[in-house]
Amino acid sequence: MTPDAQLELVTADGRRVSTESAPCPLEVRGLTVSYGEKPAVFSVDARFPSGSMTAIVGPNGAGKSTFLKGALGIVRCLAGEIRFFGRPFKETRRDVAYVPQRASVDWDFPARVIDVVMMGLYREVGLFRFAGSRHRARAIECLSRVGMQDFADRQIGQLSGGQQQRVFLARALAQDAELYLLDEPFAGVDAATEHAIVTVLKELKAAGKTVVCVHHDLSTVSAYFDRVMLINMRKQAEGPIAEAFTPETLQATYGGRLAASQIDELRLGSA
Ligand code: ADP
Ligand code: MG
Repeated sequence: MTPDAQLELVTADGRRVSTESAPCPLEVRGLTVSYGEKPAVFSVDARFPSGSMTAIVGPNGAGKSTFLKGALGIVRCLAGEIRFFGRPFKETRRDVAYVPQRASVDWDFPARVIDVVMMGLYREVGLFRFAGSRHRARAIECLSRVGMQDFADRQIGQLSGGQQQRVFLARALAQDAELYLLDEPFAGVDAATEHAIVTVLKELKAAGKTVVCVHHDLSTVSAYFDRVMLINMRKQAEGPIAEAFTPETLQATYGGRLAASQIDELRLGSA
């Protein structure tokens, strides 16, 4: 399904070689999800290239979370073709880490921070097998990357929202995935946590990983990301910031909800 990504060259001795050795981490065609009569996401085509860092942006209720859930098979798609690394999700789960929107997770059940992070290691450890000191050390290392190593033995429910968000990110890091899908990781966190999370995401990108974030703060899109997908049920634009994050595409996505003066204040790619 990735003809544009996989240009084939024929060598002088007749061998066919692909110009792109790594398949696209996530590519969807015609993704449509409906909870009722009106679709929440309608016929979206999108491509998230290897090593890119993309913000998914759009108004409340635009279908941003639903897009990720549809791609991951958490909600049923009415239509659509979805490929992770060129293959169905069930074959590539190991390489895909997902951090859901915080409000959607109930953390009242008793679990220690370290146990939550070790869930990210379950493929390595096995669900009910004994996790050894090596695994605990790896979980602590992931907590350190988000500045939460001192909270390892706390109950997750006792942490602030921002601290919980860092723990979710540590769990995703423990998985050592190739593609990271995060749903509003900065929602309701303090400035220090936002900085810590963005630093980790940029480190992932520097290590060649692919990052996709639902993001609600238009003022930081250009600083944090190199690509954007604008969505309001339908995809409105997609591409490098300079091309896809413009007054026109924002107007198309937000309509009257975004005043011209607000658009002027944004550091748009074209500015
Ligand atoms: P966003 O993440 O962009 O704010 P969502 O993907 O959560 O938007 O929601 C898109 C639309 O689908 C909204 O109209 C929302 O009310 C609706 N929706 C989301 N989840 C459900 C659900 N589980 N059941 C019914 N409708 C839902
Ligand atoms: Mg959402």
